Amino acid sequence: MRRHRRTKIVVTLGPSSSDRAMIARLFAAGADVFRINMSHTAHDKMRDLIAVIRSVEKEYERPIGILVDLQGPKLRVGTFLEDKVQLTQGASFVLDSDPKPGDQTRVHLPHPEILETLEPGHTVLLDDGKIRLTVTEASPRHATTRVEVGGPLSARKGVSLPDTTIGYGALTPKDRSDLEAALDAGIDWIALSFIQRPEDIAEAKKITRGRAAVMAKIEKPQAIAHLGEIMDLTDSLMVARGDLGVEMPLEKVPSLQKQMTRIGRRAGKPIVVATQMLESMITNPVPTRAEVSDVATAIYEGADAVMLSAESAAGRYPVEAVTMMNRIAEETEKDPNYRAIIQAQRAEPEATGADAIAAAARQVAETLDLSALVCWTSSGSTALRVARERPKPPVVAISPNVSTGRRLSLVWGVHCIVAEDARNQDDMVERACRMAFKDGFAKAGQRIIIVAGVPLGTPGATNMVRIAFVGADVIGDV
Ligand code: PEP
Repeated sequence: MRRHRRTKIVVTLGPSSSDRAMIARLFAAGADVFRINMSHTAHDKMRDLIAVIRSVEKEYERPIGILVDLQGPKLRVGTFLEDKVQLTQGASFVLDSDPKPGDQTRVHLPHPEILETLEPGHTVLLDDGKIRLTVTEASPRHATTRVEVGGPLSARKGVSLPDTTIGYGALTPKDRSDLEAALDAGIDWIALSFIQRPEDIAEAKKITRGRAAVMAKIEKPQAIAHLGEIMDLTDSLMVARGDLGVEMPLEKVPSLQKQMTRIGRRAGKPIVVATQMLESMITNPVPTRAEVSDVATAIYEGADAVMLSAESAAGRYPVEAVTMMNRIAEETEKDPNYRAIIQAQRAEPEATGADAIAAAARQVAETLDLSALVCWTSSGSTALRVARERPKPPVVAISPNVSTGRRLSLVWGVHCIVAEDARNQDDMVERACRMAFKDGFAKAGQRIIIVAGVPLGTPGATNMVRIAFVGADVIGDV
């Protein structure tokens, strides 16, 4: 099975999409990576979902990526005596360390580290930003605020702190336990929520030790302020527009999305654009025109992947949502403007053998109109550098490591095949031709270009380009 688009689709699983038949339908409709959200998934359920995805992978003989998204330090207010209280503009409202149920003058904030960090002038947002408070007075055990934008507030509503760098890492005790369980279950990508600093990525990497690739969800202004350093450490970024649009003014989200897709492209690391992409499909079988445009915009920007959240996890039309995204991606990528935009944003190769060869292979493949660019890749790094070039011909990555194949399922344009390493250069060329033919990327009589590192299986040794003819002898026994 091959996709007829370069942009990948990440599909969040949930109550609407957790049985095998549905997951297989979602894969057939276009899901390249499945996301499991640990805010709503217990360990046993996560393991069941992983087992189902692996069985679908086996049935279709295609590597499928699994992204486990950690909840992160989600902050919430305590409880109230009544069901809800009404906060009125201009009134004073206290956040404190007293666990007693609150009223319209105060509430417990069960996060002592935050009370210790708040300062006068800081903004506190409640309930997805619907209520806005400004701190007027702060002490280690309470903060008095002025209500700038009021509204109803009920127990356990979320708290966002756009101005406050909180003195904890990105991994809560729950995250650590979820992460260990996910790594034990053999997942491919781990997403970190509410990161603030590059150290948060370093902390997660110390635990993952290469067992999963790390995706930094960018949803806080503190992370935006350190984007360059975060990009250096992470393996991928998610433009987490849901919380980003709470913590930052909504009108800043589109430019931040552009900024992130550009730095991701320069770094050669996959960027996922997430949240509310086809939101109305939670309840409707067709999206709005604006949603279709939003998905297309992310694709024109060169995002590696677009993501479905509640549409596939809890909506009424999960298969229709994936089918729609697939159609938008196929159609957008056919537009000659798409190629022109993607080309115009190409970053110069870095001064490495892998980049020089990736750039040269792309140029040769385009000049000679070759039918595919095939790379042998052990760790996936050659495929990433080739994808960074955004070549016009399809990219086929062959790897002996199933984990590489699964991770690359997130990366723009990479069709990964898991196969034994080549025995020698002749075997490498012959099998590249055969696999490109078998998966529909080259016909008999066409030529492909092959990129590899010799000796084979040495990570980081990309040093070879070869043009090969897909001859009848090679394809005869496919
Ligand atoms: C987001 O905030 O956009 C996001 C993807 O995070 P979550 O769905 O985990 O809240």
